[in-house]
Amino acid sequence: MIPFNKPFIVGNELKYIEEAVKSGKISGDGIFTKKCHTFFEENFGFQKVLLTTSCTDALEMAAILCNIQEGDEVIVPSYTFVSSANAFVLRGAKIVFVDSYPDNPNIDPAEIEKHITEKTKVIVPVHYAGIACDMEKIMELAKKHDLFVVEDAAQAIDSYYTFSDGTKKALGSIGDFAAFSFHETKNIICGEGGMLVINNPEYNVRAEIIREKGTNRSAFFRGEVNKYGWVDLGSSFLPSEILSAFLYAQLENLGAIQEKRIRIWKEYYRNLLPLQEKGFIKMPEIPAFATNNAHMFYITCRNYEERSNLIQYLKTKDIHPVFHYLSLNKSEFFLKDNDPIDIPNSDHFTDCLLRLPFYFELEEAEQKNINNMIHEYYSLLEK
Ligand SMILES: *Cc1c(COP(=O)(O)O)cnc(C)c1O
Repeated sequence: MIPFNKPFIVGNELKYIEEAVKSGKISGDGIFTKKCHTFFEENFGFQKVLLTTSCTDALEMAAILCNIQEGDEVIVPSYTFVSSANAFVLRGAKIVFVDSYPDNPNIDPAEIEKHITEKTKVIVPVHYAGIACDMEKIMELAKKHDLFVVEDAAQAIDSYYTFSDGTKKALGSIGDFAAFSFHETKNIICGEGGMLVINNPEYNVRAEIIREKGTNRSAFFRGEVNKYGWVDLGSSFLPSEILSAFLYAQLENLGAIQEKRIRIWKEYYRNLLPLQEKGFIKMPEIPAFATNNAHMFYITCRNYEERSNLIQYLKTKDIHPVFHYLSLNKSEFFLKDNDPIDIPNSDHFTDCLLRLPFYFELEEAEQKNINNMIHEYYSLLEK
């Protein structure tokens, strides 16, 4: 059986967990959490990072930091995971869903501009499959209209955007805030986990407080205040040292993980390209300003029925590809309080996009089998 995803261990994960346990401290912000923070700040140009227990938590922290009030509008792509929207709904925001490009699931900046109003407060670009949104255009819109930008970079570790002046920046280092995920389906994992990036130092102190249940406990442990107490909104957003220990072992192997994933991605692309040339499927598009972090390999089928049949066909061969998001504007939760709206490109990806099995331990023979079976499906169609 070839599953869609398989969690993996690459190095010292279990050894570091044991070390954390033996050190006598397994609550948050110990040695391994600090090692992870330093790693991210030094390698990706993030001004400040805070590990969280999920990307969802990091998005919720960002919503508090943006000071979302009842009725504020937040622009979110319709083709995304629920957390990109839910984190802001929890603070009373009204979500304004915007479409993707026709040939790329990322949010289309021209569509963003049409939906900006007096009430707009935040734009949430989601870097789908780890491929950058057009951040130069999005940052220009944000500047012009005085908006926050919160990057949903859940899938975007080790991926970059190049501005028109040639400056290259890591995804997550461009918006005011960014949220990453270390859920077991992402490139770098710890089971459940995430990280908030704060790119404007004015928010450093408040971010720490929100993460520590609304207290100034972090400043107290650094000796900056002589007692700590309740000073703001907050929740318990920090992960235990057991998770950070696992994560740090993965970070030590980031290079090897990425090298392997890129090899798998390129092999899918090389092998399946003839099916695009025959007009059966579309391959992922990588704009000139973006790099590829090989988070995911997806194809886009011609229609819903063909995709369903392909899924069924591969399942009979013990291969388990999966479709992805369902347009959030069509969700039960959104339609409860909102009128139906038409967001066609998002619906196209809802119906036609298919993610192929992709994990660190995927073997060459397994991948060859997957590719052969996809070719076989289309050769049967041709007959
Ligand atoms: C995985 C993912 C999330 C949620 O991450 P968690 O760490 O599970 O909270 C949010 N947004 C996107 C785009 C994702 O891919």
